[in-house]
Amino acid sequence: MRGAPTAGGGRTVAVVGGGVAGMSAACALAEAGFRVQLVERRAFLGGRAYSFRHPGVGEVIDNCQHVLFGCCTNLDGFYRRIGVAGRIHWTSDMTMIEPGGRRSVLGPSWLPAPLHGLPRFLAARAFTIGDKLALGRAFRGLMRPVPPDSTESLGEWLARNGQTQGALDRFWRLVIASALNADIGSISLAYAAKVIRELFLNSAEAGRMGMSTLPLSDLYAGANDFLTGKGSGVLLNAAVDSAAWDAGAPQWTLATNAGALEAEFLVLALPFEAMSRLLPHMPQAEGAAGLAAQIARQEHWPICSVHLWFDREITTLDHAVLLDREIHWMYNKGRIQPSRGGAGSYLELVVSASSAFAALPGEKAIEQSVLELAEFFPAVRSAKLVKAARVKEVHATFGVPPGIDESRPSSVSPWPNCFLAGDWTATGWPSTMESASRSGHLAAEAVCRAAGSERAILNPDLAPRGLMRLPGMALSRSPSRGGPPPLAQKTG
Ligand SMILES: Cc1cc2nc3c(=O)[nH]c(=O)nc-3n(C[C@H](O)[C@H](O)[C@H](O)COP(=O)(O)OP(=O)(O)OC[C@H]3O[C@@H](n4cnc5c(N)ncnc54)[C@H](O)[C@@H]3O)c2cc1C
Repeated sequence: MRGAPTAGGGRTVAVVGGGVAGMSAACALAEAGFRVQLVERRAFLGGRAYSFRHPGVGEVIDNCQHVLFGCCTNLDGFYRRIGVAGRIHWTSDMTMIEPGGRRSVLGPSWLPAPLHGLPRFLAARAFTIGDKLALGRAFRGLMRPVPPDSTESLGEWLARNGQTQGALDRFWRLVIASALNADIGSISLAYAAKVIRELFLNSAEAGRMGMSTLPLSDLYAGANDFLTGKGSGVLLNAAVDSAAWDAGAPQWTLATNAGALEAEFLVLALPFEAMSRLLPHMPQAEGAAGLAAQIARQEHWPICSVHLWFDREITTLDHAVLLDREIHWMYNKGRIQPSRGGAGSYLELVVSASSAFAALPGEKAIEQSVLELAEFFPAVRSAKLVKAARVKEVHATFGVPPGIDESRPSSVSPWPNCFLAGDWTATGWPSTMESASRSGHLAAEAVCRAAGSERAILNPDLAPRGLMRLPGMALSRSPSRGGPPPLAQKTG
């Protein structure tokens, strides 16, 4: 190892899974002085956030647009660690477009939080006065702590809090359910309240949106460079099939298709399905059955994206929320990722939580998307569609139904010197890169602790601003360190 002696002292760690969770854990541990081997089944890092050359269109595309927000402090910390934070393009404006083209732009003003979004919200023509009153009441209601034992879904709560059809369709279903990628009836009220607070109330900074200016796999190549620069390594095309623990050594031995690997500490940063497949090939341990039961209660939701190349410019907007149609979000990838170059324009449309859209044949999905897009951007009608692709991610994100926190394990595993990470573990966050990065940082802290050297790795939350700092306004924001997630804590 190079550099000054640190927590790890050159002790070895194998991190299994090269998604955001595994990369975050591996890089933090390498920085802490451990010798890390990051082991990934596929030929590239990034996990569910990756880009690839699509054979049908001959272009490198993201498997889907991945956005982050200012409140994603651990993802930002990971990006800073690997030197790619400057590759994120940030924006505070959210343009909502109605069929026909009328626009409303939400975003911050000079007013202190939580009022910063109020002036533009009041001016938004996408909502009637009735919608605005209903949404205002709901926001106020969601500023109160959700009881830790609440079993209420967002849908149930909205039904008893008098929401208009416009508020339901244009805000709750489109913005919030789509951010959580599920139907409103399948979303825990606590998670919905968290999204509202983080994106719209705590501060303007927390709610700004970030998009990578590089294809995702190029962005995450920074993790490979960071690890090798620290004397650690990345092993690609290596699927871990089983793991054995030797208490005498003490050491883990991993069996992979690329040969055996040994390490004193193990971090399993796998999605829950892969964890479930590995479980029968782990040593017997008290608690393994409980973990299997927690995994069995997890479920996935699909996301589709439609990638369209036109022979001319369609819009100068970087992104927009598209109202009242099947397509939900428009990302102007040619503008967001300028290094792509090329004539014409490249737009990506995202359809969240849409099993019906995922079931459409690819050509039909593209045809419907173009027809709908033309309702928002008339330039589509005179443009030539040069090429197009639909990408379907059936297992995109895990759901956050009421009671889900009981099924999210902490980083502590049933096995010695072995820790769990992955977006689905207990972070208090929904299925996002931030949750994955948080889980990786929590697992890295647990490894340091087990190695006898406490180290704070988790990045703290952004402090609420303005009036949100007043007593009674701020919910408990203490970071979860493997205990119950923040959402389950009693709050003031
Ligand atoms: C279409 C889509 C859109 C999304 N949009 C957003 C968004 O806008 N914003 C956002 O924050 N999040 C978004 N997400 C969610 C985000 O991608 C995930 O929450 C996050 O990437 C999960 O990271 P992870 O490391 O926990 O898991 P994963 O990314 O699943 O990584 C796990 C890794 O483990 C590897 N692996 C599996 N089995 C083995 C094995 N036996 N041996 C070795 N390696 C193995 C896998 O190949 C994978 O690379 C989206 C996801 C999808 C699919």
